[in-house]
Amino acid sequence: MLRRILPWIGLLLLATSFLTFLVIAPPVRQEVQEPRAPTHGATKPFVVVLDPGHGGRDSGAMCGNVMEKDLTLDVARRAEMLLRASGYRTVLTRDSDHYLSLPERAAAGNDEDDSLFISIHFNDGERAAASGVETYFAERQRTANPGLLSWLGFFRSATEAQPLLTKSESLARFLQTALVEHTQAVNRGTKAAQFYVIRNVRHPAALVEGGFITNPADVTKLTTAEYRQQIAFAITEGIHRYREVLRPNDPKLALAGAAE
Ligand SMILES: [Zn+2]
Repeated sequence: MLRRILPWIGLLLLATSFLTFLVIAPPVRQEVQEPRAPTHGATKPFVVVLDPGHGGRDSGAMCGNVMEKDLTLDVARRAEMLLRASGYRTVLTRDSDHYLSLPERAAAGNDEDDSLFISIHFNDGERAAASGVETYFAERQRTANPGLLSWLGFFRSATEAQPLLTKSESLARFLQTALVEHTQAVNRGTKAAQFYVIRNVRHPAALVEGGFITNPADVTKLTTAEYRQQIAFAITEGIHRYREVLRPNDPKLALAGAAE
């Protein structure tokens, strides 16, 4: 009897020590997600991943010949130019009118280590009266790579998910404030939603809805290059302000960001 049980006891001990090691071991990606202050921004420029919604056979919302996929690409390109002029490195998930799946978009957001992700969209409402801008963040974002550590999410989520949620929510708030300031559009606020592209990115992420294609006043403004430039400028401004409050070693900048 004992001879039969002994191997099982051995196996149990082995599994227990393996588990203990995994729980005690430091989170694998921590140093990547939380850059330490002394090296902050010193070597590699911070990356902004811009995701123009829809594309190719997926037009998104439509009104006559105005298509969401064209507006999102135009605004993303404008924001890209402004961000590059400010010293950011940028990545566009698509730079032409082609179809891109949601997992491909999220993967582009996960390719960069020190980065944030902004998906750009325009709304369609059931009522033509619906108007204005709103910005989304995901309450439960993916925090680790799938595989060995994914089943340990129970142990890791408490320590990692909270700061990421705080960052994404504050990114959304800075974007929304800047959008309302620069476009004078109706403020529909920041909202939590589990949209695929933002919940599957493991960096601060937000989704901007820059106006209603189904609203006559909104769509008239959206067809002008000046207005789209204002949206792009607001996105850039929101990123600047968000980045400023994230610099804990620079109280001057932190105060400036908080005062906005
Ligand atoms: Zn859309």
